[in-house]
Amino acid sequence: MPNFRTLDDADVKGKRVLVRVDLNVPFESGKVTDATRIERSTPTIREIAEKGGKVVLLSHFGRPKGREPQDSLKPVAQEVSRVLKRPVAFAEDCVGAAAEKAVAAMKPGDILCLENTRFHKEEEKNDPAFAAAIAKLGDLYVNDAFSCAHRAHASTEGIARMLPAYAGRAMQAELQALEKALEAPKKPVIAIIGGAKVSTKLDLIENLIAKVDGLVIGGGMANTFLHAQGIGIGKSLAEKDLAGTARRILDKAEHRNCAIILPIDGIVSFHFEAYAPSHDYGIDAIPDDGMILDVGPLSVERIAAVIDDAETLVWNGPLGAFEMPPFDKATVAVARHAAERTKAGKLISVAGGGDTVAALNHAHVADDFTYVSTAGGAFLEWMEGKPLPGVEVLRIR
Ligand code: AMP
Repeated sequence: MPNFRTLDDADVKGKRVLVRVDLNVPFESGKVTDATRIERSTPTIREIAEKGGKVVLLSHFGRPKGREPQDSLKPVAQEVSRVLKRPVAFAEDCVGAAAEKAVAAMKPGDILCLENTRFHKEEEKNDPAFAAAIAKLGDLYVNDAFSCAHRAHASTEGIARMLPAYAGRAMQAELQALEKALEAPKKPVIAIIGGAKVSTKLDLIENLIAKVDGLVIGGGMANTFLHAQGIGIGKSLAEKDLAGTARRILDKAEHRNCAIILPIDGIVSFHFEAYAPSHDYGIDAIPDDGMILDVGPLSVERIAAVIDDAETLVWNGPLGAFEMPPFDKATVAVARHAAERTKAGKLISVAGGGDTVAALNHAHVADDFTYVSTAGGAFLEWMEGKPLPGVEVLRIR
């Protein structure tokens, strides 16, 4: 990865290393309910500690307005210690005397977690004096929190301008996977997008059209495109006021030689609920009082064939209302097909976004994709082609 400095370039021995991690983990009744984000950071933390660096962890947690005890990182630091099976000290603040004293007491290989950066309003303002107060605590800065990189905050952006800055191992893996997926992909490259609405994914669709050879559109958002083409979609979820936008997108795709693959059949039900009776209808025969809740088996076959012709796949958004069986069928079938092609070494598959990760877990294939990004907002902004401030600042200029 030539564009970014990584831990391979850092001499951490005996140094105070400020490591920005994402400890904004799901938390209920005083307990961390999902430690995935912590687990993703452990290779970086371990590596720096084992090389004799002093690991100083920095993170935000929740959306506190000032110092709110329920948003303290203290219990999360204990969970980090449990996951790492090593002691993790805690400092009651991320700047000032408490932090300075805790850092001064560290020995090589020690790990310290600083209190929630968002206890200071200057964090989200990317205030240079606040960033400098954090930077004072370290000799080097490592960012391992891709999921926070779409925000230019003091602990993700400002500080990286003040210290030698490196990508941690999780950040490195994410950047390498994303580069393989859209920036320098093996062609043909296709994207699958689904989910509820076109309106939330307009930027994403526009960016993809410019970059991919084929775009599969499923989920509720496909209905808007079908409606825009004059196809009756009954009572399906759609944004009919976006018909003009949808037509403009289809024209632009044609102009750019990006094939748009829309459903040719749909699973229709009369009730929006799990296990509601349903039937497969050809896309030009959708009943007036029905709702398309999933793409049909003929469409799945077609999508599988498109995947077979591709070298690279990027996926965001479910193909149907997958939380309500049996309307999870197409999403699961396509996910399994992509996983099989990936396992056979025929496909590079990268997926991301909250619902997409949930859908791949539901299909039990998340581990079989080349890379699954758990970063919600940052992954989407990357798919939209937007520069991520926390990544840009790590680039070697
Ligand atoms: P998004 O957050 O935009 O990715 O949308 C995900 C949501 O879209 C999920 O909750 C799905 O249940 C929903 N969804 C997908 N397809 C449909 C559909 N055909 N009709 C209604 N909701 C859908």
